[in-house]
Amino acid sequence: MSSDTITILFLVSCISLIGLGLFVFYKMKQMRKLQAEATNLRQSLEEMDEQAKLIVRTDMELNKTQEELDKKVAGLYALQRFSRAVSTTLEENQIFSRIETSFLEDLGFEKALVFLWEGPSKFRNCLNIGYPEEALLAIQTLMEAHKDLYHTLIEEGKTISSISKLSVGKEQMNRVLKVSAFVISPIIPREGAKGFLLVGTENTDIIITEGDEELIVVLANQLGQALENARLFEKTWKTQQELEIKVEQRTHELRNVLSEVEKISKRKSDFVSSVSHELRTPLTSIKGYAAILLAGKLGAVPLEIKERLEKINRHSDELAHMVNDLLDISRIEAGKVTMKLEPQKLKDILEKVTDLLAVQAKEKQIELKFGLAPEAETVFADRNQIERVLINLIGNAMKFTPAAGSITVVARATANNMAEVEVMDTGCGIPQESLDAVFEEFYRVENQINQEVKGTGLGLSLVKHIIEAHGGKIWVKSVVGKGSTFSFTLPLA
Ligand code: ADP
Repeated sequence: MSSDTITILFLVSCISLIGLGLFVFYKMKQMRKLQAEATNLRQSLEEMDEQAKLIVRTDMELNKTQEELDKKVAGLYALQRFSRAVSTTLEENQIFSRIETSFLEDLGFEKALVFLWEGPSKFRNCLNIGYPEEALLAIQTLMEAHKDLYHTLIEEGKTISSISKLSVGKEQMNRVLKVSAFVISPIIPREGAKGFLLVGTENTDIIITEGDEELIVVLANQLGQALENARLFEKTWKTQQELEIKVEQRTHELRNVLSEVEKISKRKSDFVSSVSHELRTPLTSIKGYAAILLAGKLGAVPLEIKERLEKINRHSDELAHMVNDLLDISRIEAGKVTMKLEPQKLKDILEKVTDLLAVQAKEKQIELKFGLAPEAETVFADRNQIERVLINLIGNAMKFTPAAGSITVVARATANNMAEVEVMDTGCGIPQESLDAVFEEFYRVENQINQEVKGTGLGLSLVKHIIEAHGGKIWVKSVVGKGSTFSFTLPLA
């Protein structure tokens, strides 16, 4: 082999080695890149795995929350139904009978008890769902043994459950109550016995949540409210019964008093009537004899005796007038006077009355005015009696109105088919406290005019009797020093 060939071979080998070296370097670089990519991929995979786990966990939690929400919504619906039913119940027993097994199941429980605190050491059982008699006795004994705990619950309005911290052994409670989870909530009506509601379940899958506790608190509050309503109703009902009895007794007493008053009033009327009758005959004789003497039929009468006889005559007239009024009042009161009701023109009656009183009006310079509405023209009345009414009212108005005053009589129709007649004067007026009393027999206002003017206090009483016998009413309004208005009603013809 020539040295050239060897040199060429050597050169070829060197180039091949360099090429190989370059190839190896290139591959190694690629491998490192691939390794870096593989590490990145692994990290991404791990991250994705974490995220997938998180998604699964979140999904599970969401499902659980959804389940709890569904449970709570079902419970709330059940509570709403219960609330509606119990709000119309006003008897204690019926309130508890509204808690049925299906309703309890909607709340997630199958056992329930209600105890109300009756006296120093006894709980009264008012509701029992799911416990046989002997189990109930055992529970009652346990409760009475721990009564302080229950009293504290009631006093503090506190709710406990299997998830609360308790001073009483939870295992013992679960064992005696035969449940794996329970809630106890106080029932606190504002009146009467307080107590508590206990609900429980044997289902070990059920774990009591705060939401469950809240639902039972609402239920216990509703029971408290319903008991309060029932007790209030009972109290109101009892009070009403007592009131009814009292009203009945009072009515009976009043009826007796009324019949006594009627008897006395009748006796009074009879007495007044017979005395008036008895007075009439001697009065007529006195008047007769006085008239004979005055006429000089028994010889000449000296002036002094004549004056006395005239006084006797005048006083006898006044007495006869009073006796007649008294007799009329007692007759009308006894229903012995029948009013001869006929259509009468108010204008005609008023004209006659003003004729009778014209002299008196002229003497005192009193102006008499009338204003009769056409629709109140004709009334249904006993003419003579209404004449007496108007003579009395207008006569009084003249008596108590100073000279140069005025008297106005108006009449109008009212909505209930009556005529309302008003006699207004510009006289001395009547004090407010005497307005009703003026219609009583023998009542006269104590004033200067009454000391000077004669009167019996019978006129307005008679007027009132006559108006009422016509089915009307009479009243007076007055301002002292300004005048009075006497108003009365009569049926329109
Ligand atoms: P008498 O007029 O005979 O006293 P009445 O029964 O007619 O009796 O009236 C009772 C009292 O009512 C009168 O004494 C008088 O005090 C008061 N009275 C009646 N009418 C009027 C009037 N128009 N103005 C003021 N007082 C009156």
